[in-house]
Amino acid sequence: MYDKPLPVIDSESRPYWDALKQHRLTLKRCQDCGKHHFYPRALCPHCHSDALEWVDARGTGTIYSFTIARRPAGPAFKADTPYVVAVVELDEGARMMTNIVTADVDAVRIGQRVSVQYEDVTDEVTLPKFRLV
Ligand code: ZN
Repeated sequence: MYDKPLPVIDSESRPYWDALKQHRLTLKRCQDCGKHHFYPRALCPHCHSDALEWVDARGTGTIYSFTIARRPAGPAFKADTPYVVAVVELDEGARMMTNIVTADVDAVRIGQRVSVQYEDVTDEVTLPKFRLV
């Protein structure tokens, strides 16, 4: 039984969650300026174009920022402490908030290379988390 908060899936984010169920990390890419963004939006945050397409991300990136949670964000997270909440800059350039899954939270550093791993938490929801490489 998964008792942590779950994402609200709407029509804009549905393709993203559907791809994650298939263990694919996808991003939206702008056909006008060529940049990727995350989270998925209807308009490009860089140039406001609506010519966007879904593309598969490589699933690799770099830790841009992180914190170590030594107190849980709520009762459901208590068993996970300490855990790492991070912003990962994907190699495509988009940044996403995620967790770094590691047995040694004190070894995590900004700039480390990471790759995605998929956590199937419910029938509907697969979460993309990252591990050090
Ligand atoms: Zn754009």
